[in-house]
Amino acid sequence: MFPSENPAPLAPPAPQHPDHAVSRLRTQRLAASAKPFLARGSGGGRCAGCRLVASHCLCGLRPQVSTRAGVCLLMGDIEALKPSNTGWLVADVVADTWAFPWSRITVDPALLELLADPQWQPYVVFPGEFVEAERVVTDLQTEESSDEATAPGAKKKPLFVLLDGTWSEARKMFRKSPYLDRFPVLSLQPEAVVSNYRLRRSARENHFCTSEVAALCLALAGETHAANTLAAWLDVFTERYLSVKGWTRLDPGSETHQRLQALAALGGQGAGEGEGEDAAGLIPRVSRLEPAA
Ligand SMILES: [Zn+2]
Repeated sequence: MFPSENPAPLAPPAPQHPDHAVSRLRTQRLAASAKPFLARGSGGGRCAGCRLVASHCLCGLRPQVSTRAGVCLLMGDIEALKPSNTGWLVADVVADTWAFPWSRITVDPALLELLADPQWQPYVVFPGEFVEAERVVTDLQTEESSDEATAPGAKKKPLFVLLDGTWSEARKMFRKSPYLDRFPVLSLQPEAVVSNYRLRRSARENHFCTSEVAALCLALAGETHAANTLAAWLDVFTERYLSVKGWTRLDPGSETHQRLQALAALGGQGAGEGEGEDAAGLIPRVSRLEPAA
């Protein structure tokens, strides 16, 4: 036997495709689709892990943080299929993220089960101005868990229910999901400035994308490191997304990338509660991928 003159090239390292709630929902939604979904600008070899073209893939940079808080995404019909959906970024970073397709007529029993789980205190995140005042809260309650498995007096963990879709879809989800009616509505007030988490964007321009909303919720829950990491992840994603569109040049050494890397380096080393933020100068740069619906 002679060695092959053309040995097989070494396989590239396996891409770190996330197997998370939104990627699974995307797969389900694609399978259920009668016709192939053609996203604008699709084709050209998008990475299944981050939805960007291979040259701009950011899977190798994906941070993960441990949080006490959870996120439950109710997603509009094609939301999980949009390459610009930022609920995906939440699922990238926050391990306890669930995603359910929203429908006016049916509800996934797993969603009802999650909402009824005594370890969680669900909050429906929605602008308070559209809701009866008695349901609206602007801060987290500290209700004790009724779960006997947890320590007596243990606090329930916050579960942020985010309505991920266009504004018109979100309003419909809010109005036509009776199973959400018993939960407090968390009305975010970014201008009140949650400690260590600041937005550059004018408070008047208060349409936030889903991952920004999630970051604000995490900040409110005292998960500063997670909030900043998610904000930095959105920034890096946005920078690359816009670069794919040819609006900017890809610079893997940009300030945004450095900030994400600094946060990733902090990792779980006590970076959770207000430590280390100053190290990376963490003021999230807010940007928007799509015009407000
Ligand atoms: Zn990728």
